[in-house]
Amino acid sequence: MGAFEGECLSMDHARARVWREGNRWAIEVEIDGVPYTERAYADLASATHAIAQILRQQAGRDPDLDEQECSQCDKPLDLVACSQCGADAFMRTCGHGLDMRPIRIVDEALYCRTCRP
Ligand SMILES: [Zn+2]
Ligand SMILES: [Zn+2]
Repeated sequence: MGAFEGECLSMDHARARVWREGNRWAIEVEIDGVPYTERAYADLASATHAIAQILRQQAGRDPDLDEQECSQCDKPLDLVACSQCGADAFMRTCGHGLDMRPIRIVDEALYCRTCRP
């Protein structure tokens, strides 16, 4: 983690940070105290754009679809969307509890509970 902290955004239940890491920008979005994502971007504009997108998606989503962080490993959660209706949710990126995923891959496409064939 670099010494420089670029921006700090705060909302009721969400917090986002951007910082410089070498020649990339890293972001971390924390919603309800759970850190959801952390990635590297080539420039500050795409980093802040990504944060805005995550927060906007978070605001308009059905939180029922979200998964909790995995208790068996510490792989991060990632935002995935249903290929049919566009509903999105934070899902685990690890292989634990695959049958329990609210949005999961069927025939190589992502489906939510409602759209699953
Ligand atoms: Zn896991
Ligand atoms: Zn769907």
